[in-house]
Amino acid sequence: MKELVRKNILNLSPYIAGKPIEETKRQFGLKEVIKLASNENPLGPSPKALGAIKKSLLGINRYPDSQGFYLKRKLAKSLGIEPDNLVLGNGSDELIDVIIKTFVEEDENIITADVTFLEYEIIAGTNGRRVIKTPLKYFKYDLESIKGKIDKKTKIIFVSNPNNPTGTYVTKYEVEELLGGLPDNILLVLDEAYNTFIDVDDFPNSLKYFKNKNVIVLNTFSKAYGLAGLRIGYAIARRELTTYMERVRQPFNVNLLAQAAAAAALDDKEFLRRTRKLVLEGKNYLYDGLTGLGLAYVPSAANFILIDAGRDGVELFKEMLKFGVIVRDMKQYGLNNFIRVTIGTKKENARFLKVLRKVLSGGKNR
Ligand SMILES: *Cc1c(COP(=O)(O)O)cnc(C)c1O
Repeated sequence: MKELVRKNILNLSPYIAGKPIEETKRQFGLKEVIKLASNENPLGPSPKALGAIKKSLLGINRYPDSQGFYLKRKLAKSLGIEPDNLVLGNGSDELIDVIIKTFVEEDENIITADVTFLEYEIIAGTNGRRVIKTPLKYFKYDLESIKGKIDKKTKIIFVSNPNNPTGTYVTKYEVEELLGGLPDNILLVLDEAYNTFIDVDDFPNSLKYFKNKNVIVLNTFSKAYGLAGLRIGYAIARRELTTYMERVRQPFNVNLLAQAAAAAALDDKEFLRRTRKLVLEGKNYLYDGLTGLGLAYVPSAANFILIDAGRDGVELFKEMLKFGVIVRDMKQYGLNNFIRVTIGTKKENARFLKVLRKVLSGGKNR
C-alpha cells in the first residue's frame, strides 16, 4: 500500500507521547500511578476554567465562535496588544502547522536545534519541508550557529524558549543579536510554552519584538494553566502576518469549551501564583535530591528537569514504570542516557526520588 502514501510521509517517525496513567495501571496492576512525563500542571485545571466549562456545557450543540472574539479581546488586553495580533490554535502544535503552511514554500527550509521540541521537525515533515538542525551548545540553543546556517532558502527559525526537553533558555541579548542581523525575508518563531516559569531577568520580552520585526511568538494554555486536555494555544504577530495565518487555520479549530476555559483561566491569578510557587519550590527540592543521588542535571527555566541518568534512559523509564512512576525517556531526542521529569506536587516529587533511588540501587545495568 506504500505506493498510495506521499513520499515525505513514508519517512516520518510518529510522535511518541508520554505514557498515559490508565494504561500503566492496567499494564502493571497498579492502583496509584503518577505521571511526570508531559510537563502538565499537577494541580489540575484552573478552578475558574472549570467553572466556565460547566457553564458552557449546555451550549455545545452550537459551533464555537470561529473568530474567538471574546477570548482574543481578553487575551489581547492582558498582553497589552491588539486582538488582531492573535491567532488561536487547537494547541500551539496546530499553530506550528499553520505557520509552516502559511509561510514556507516547497523549496524553502526551516532551521532549529537538533535537540528540541520534536513537533517542529515532524510537522515540517508532514508538509514536505526541509529542516536544518544545529547542535545545542551546553544543552542550549546556539543562535550564532543558527545564524551561520541561514541560506537563500531559509524561511523560518524555530526557537523553543525555554527549550523542551533541556530547560535552558536564550537570553534577550542573544535573541536581539540574532534579530539585528536577520534578513527581512526570514521569520523567527519564539515558542514560549514555559515562559510562566521564568525567574531570571535576562529572559527576552518577546512582546517588544513582534511589532517591528518578523517575529511570531507562540504560547499555550496547556502548561501553566492546566488545560492540556482541552487543546488551546495562541500565536502573536503583526496583523500583516496574522491575516494570512487566519486563512490557513480550520474555521472551528478551537472548540467552545476551550475558548470559555481559557478566557476564565486568564483571570485565575491565584492559580497561576500557586502553580509557579509549586514549580519553583519543587525544582530546588528535586535538584537537592538528584545531587544526593549523585546524578547530574541541566538547570531548568521550565517546569521539568533533564537528568543525566548515566545509564540507558529507556531501561530506567521501564523500571520506574513498574513502581508507578511515569517519566520520559529521551531516546527519541537522541539523548540515550537521559530522562526528563516534570516537576509535580510535593508528594509526587518525593515519590519520584524514592523510586529513582530504589531503581538505581537495584544494581542492574551500570
Ligand atoms: C508543550 C509544548 C507546546 C505545546 O503545546 P500545545 O499543547 O499544543 O499547546 C509547544 N511547544 C513546546 C516547546 C512545548 O513543550
